[in-house]
This record gives sequence, C-alpha cells and structure tokens, in this order.
Amino acid sequence: MKALVFHGPGQKAWEERPKPRVEDASDAVVRITTTTICGTDVHIVRGEYPVKPGLILGHEPVGVIDELGAGLEGLYDVGQRVIVGAITPCGQCFYCLNGVHSQCGGGVGGWKFGNTINGAWAEYLLVPDARANLAPIPTGLTDEDVVLCCDIFSTGLSGAESGNIKVGDAVAVFAQGPIGLCATLGAKLRGAALIIGIDGNADRLRIARTMGATVTLNIHDGDPVPEIKRLTEGRGADVAIEALGLQETFENALRAIRPGGTLSSLGVYSGKVVAPYEAFYAGLGDEKIVTTLCPGGKERMRRLMAAIQTRRVDLRPLVTHAFALDDIAEAFDLFSHQRDGVLKVALYPDPARAKAAQSSVAAGLVDLQVLS
Ligand SMILES: [Zn+2]
Ligand SMILES: [Zn+2]
Repeated sequence: MKALVFHGPGQKAWEERPKPRVEDASDAVVRITTTTICGTDVHIVRGEYPVKPGLILGHEPVGVIDELGAGLEGLYDVGQRVIVGAITPCGQCFYCLNGVHSQCGGGVGGWKFGNTINGAWAEYLLVPDARANLAPIPTGLTDEDVVLCCDIFSTGLSGAESGNIKVGDAVAVFAQGPIGLCATLGAKLRGAALIIGIDGNADRLRIARTMGATVTLNIHDGDPVPEIKRLTEGRGADVAIEALGLQETFENALRAIRPGGTLSSLGVYSGKVVAPYEAFYAGLGDEKIVTTLCPGGKERMRRLMAAIQTRRVDLRPLVTHAFALDDIAEAFDLFSHQRDGVLKVALYPDPARAKAAQSSVAAGLVDLQVLS
C-alpha cells in the first residue's frame, strides 16, 4: 500500500509499505476512506514535536473494517463503516482505569497513531485495542460529517468541558484555528452567554461568529485583555481557553480570567511556559489551570457523532479543501502555510472520491458565506 512516512525533521515521503495484518486477537485493520491533516502533524514534520523516524503519520482515521482479530468476532463486521479517535486508549491500564484515558500507559500515551505506532495517512491502518476504539458511523452520516470528530471536535470541546463552563459564563477563546473554532462551539454547547473569539485573521473571526462567538476581537486592533475586562464589568472571563500553544497566548489567557477563574489550555507548547506574577496573583488567585489532550475511545466518538446526527452540530463548513491522498504533499503545503482560507483538508485514498468531494466542498463554502 501507499503511505506517507516520516523520516526525521523536514523529511517525509510518499512510499510503498506492506499492508498491515491483524497481529493480536484484539486488533483490527481499517481500510481508510477519509482522513485529514492536523496542526500537530505540522509540528512533527518541522521537528517541533519528536516522533520516531520511519512511522506513518496521521491520526484521524475514517474507514471500513477490513480485518478483525479473533477477539472481535460477533462485535463488529468486516465492511462496517467506523471512525477511530486520534487517541486510542486500551481501557485497562492504570491511567485508563483512573479515568485519564488520553494518558493511557503514561504521559501522552493515549496518542499512538502517527506518534508511537503507524498512523492513518495510508490505505490501511492497524488499530490496537479495537474493542475500545472502533466507533460505528451512524446511518446517514458521511465521512465528511464525522472526520473532524477524531481529533479537533473532541479536542476543542474538551477545552470547554475541562474549563467546566457553566450556563451564563463569560468565555474567551484565544486563537480561532480549527481547534479554537471547535472550542468556541464547545463554549456555545455548554451554555456560555458571552463568547469572545480572539485571533489575528479576519476570515477566521468571521467563521468564529458562525460557530458561536458573540464577540470577536482582532489582535491587530490592540491588546485583547483590557477589552475582555471591559466586556465583563472589569472582572475578566470566567473561563479562558488557550488554543494555540504560545507563551503569549497562555499569558493573555491567564490575564483574561477573573480571580477564581479557569484557564483551560489546549495548545501544544515547545520549551517552557511561564506564568506572569501579577496575572497569577503571586499564586493566591484561586485560579485553576487545566490541560487536556484530545479525549478518544469509541464512547467519546459515539457521543460526538450523536450530536452531529441530530444536527446539534455541523462541522462540514470547517472542511474547506479536498485532495487525493496521492496529493498529500500539495495538501500539506497548503495546510501548513494556511493558504487559500484553509481550515481543514479532507484526504481520500480513492482519487475519484477526492474529485467528487472537491465540488461538494466548494458548495459547503457557499453555505458558510450564507451563514455569516
Ligand atoms: Zn491532531
Ligand atoms: Zn490504557
């Protein structure tokens, strides 16, 4: 099969690899029908997040069951459509049984695809602990409806959940990339009253308003923190979500919350992160700083897809481009340089399907313009 293989910082190649086979009774093999590129993949290829050379990258798989281990008989069918979360907990280790599934096996251990085992940028994918991780796609939902559940919807929503947003809260979401937009949507789903979307890109701020932001602030118009204070009677936000992974946004998020507020951090940081003295009230501000890695596992995926099935959520407007998996180099270049208004790209191993998707994605963009 063809696969996109990481060969160290700055080096990736589209090459021939053996098709994976079930090795263990609890494994399954999925034939990928749709996948996508994540900001984290860009960090990996740039050498900003260490991954072992030789691995197939990609952690957002949508597909069809191709082979099942003996332990999965009667639970799933070959040919069944499934998604698998970016995070694949085993469901049995110390961390899983303590409820922190994303840390399965140890720090960041739940993230396996394209990090510690072969990932989804290929025609076939080996899924370990499949019983905990294969989530059947509800009838009537397309690949494009659900592909963002694997990572960004789960991650963005988790920022709102970990922040424990309550009905009527004032929430500030720092950065409106795909994850930040899903965090904005998460704040809306949790019942926040004032949702402030912050970014430097006017197009992304426009989309933020369609995802639930009630106010948007462009960082090019000045420091957003005094404006957040002004909008909250001088107090600051109940919850700030950091969705970029920079010292500057972390610091601004901390400055933006009220005493006793929560900073819910989703960003992937490089190096160290420093808390400024005044914003941290010397450590006496009763603030909570929580971090979250994308929740995975089939039950999480089921819940996210249920919200899409009942039309509480529509993520298709975020899929702005479509490519054949053969053209992943071109897709990666577009995505990593944020050209052409890209938010997420759908990748298809089947070139005919990619071609069909290119026209429907264009139609989706029209919908988005009507919405805003
Ligand atoms: Zn990701
Ligand atoms: Zn585990």
